[in-house]
Amino acid sequence: MRNGIDRAALIAGGAGFIGSHLCDALIAEGYRVVCVDNFRTGRLNNLRHLEREPRLEIIDADVIGPLPSTLTRRSLRISRVFNLACPASPPHYQADPEHTLLSSVIGTRNLLGLAERMQARFLLASTSEIYGDPQTHPQAESYWGYVNPTGPRACYDEGKRAAETLTFDFARAGRGETRVARIFNTYGPRMRADDGRVVSNVITQALAGDDITVYGTGKQTRSFCYIDDLVDGLTRLMAYNGDYAGAINLGNPAELTVRDLVARVMRLTGSQSRIVRRPLPVDDPQRRRPDITLARRHLGWEPKVPLEQGLERTIAHFAVEAAALAASVTRRLAEAG
Ligand code: NAD
Ligand code: UDP
Repeated sequence: MRNGIDRAALIAGGAGFIGSHLCDALIAEGYRVVCVDNFRTGRLNNLRHLEREPRLEIIDADVIGPLPSTLTRRSLRISRVFNLACPASPPHYQADPEHTLLSSVIGTRNLLGLAERMQARFLLASTSEIYGDPQTHPQAESYWGYVNPTGPRACYDEGKRAAETLTFDFARAGRGETRVARIFNTYGPRMRADDGRVVSNVITQALAGDDITVYGTGKQTRSFCYIDDLVDGLTRLMAYNGDYAGAINLGNPAELTVRDLVARVMRLTGSQSRIVRRPLPVDDPQRRRPDITLARRHLGWEPKVPLEQGLERTIAHFAVEAAALAASVTRRLAEAG
């Protein structure tokens, strides 16, 4: 505490998968954390372990609407604003595309305005999706992308591209300090079982002995970053005080095919599930791997957690969640007589 006023960070989307891990990291760094979330894909359960933490405040609000006036109260010196408020999984962001697009565009405008009033530094959680179905490989920050502006992924991709534009214009106009992280596929504990993304789908299917769904040939590639590494990258980028002012890729350059991911999960879980093919979703990117030269150079950052280790931790998380769900169903059935 300085001059009787706490150092505080705001995390929009703080009840989500990445946001809740970021809450943990910032509280451990000594911040008071204000989490603003509309709970569309986020869960209170992700923050349950912080229930008695006096330095965490949770506000149920949508960043598209006017932000609660309590955020600008004088006892709360918000010096950092992290904008993570947007669903990240294709089925979730496509469920209400208008809301997804506006979360990125209006939400970013509202949070930039708040950062300006509070003289806080602002970080946008952007995405590798701004590169679309990339025509260069691996993807460096200098690549402008290959995005279909009218397809079903556009609400997410174009929303994030516009959010980046707003953020860079804000900085160019001298209205505040900004940071932009282009996050590549991230996985780990607290992903939702019904998230719909490949890591959570394959693990939950393998654990339940259900058919494992591979979309398309399964030869498309992704590069998966474990959550602890990503959060380390986000906090380093927010703290970065150097001259580089552009966007920074945060992701794990270890690239593998979807089929390879499935094989690894089946081996780690001992699963006997069948693999079934499903149609490839429209505009599904074929290859994706981050060039992290800039993150290495400016942040001294690179991922440390190998895929096998990250998958083991994630599998353990889903196994515990499935066991808790089974126990609660058994209890309810017993109570019902
Ligand atoms: P998530 O869906 O778990 O988290 C998003 C959070 O934002 C949820 O808690 C949700 O309820 C909240 N939210 C959504 N719209 C909101 C709104 N209008 N107002 C207030 N709250 C809102 O997803 P995640 O994986 O934790 O992703 C967090 C951020 O990181 C997102 O901005 C996403 O675009 C970005 N990102 C994630 C990945 C990834 O692999 N997980 C990759 C690239 C970028
Ligand atoms: N995918 C798959 N089976 C699933 C879910 C996804 O084969 O059950 C594929 C999907 O088509 C894509 C890759 O896995 O090629 C990663 O998809 P995800 O939704 O995890 O992330 P994104 O496409 O946003 O990178």
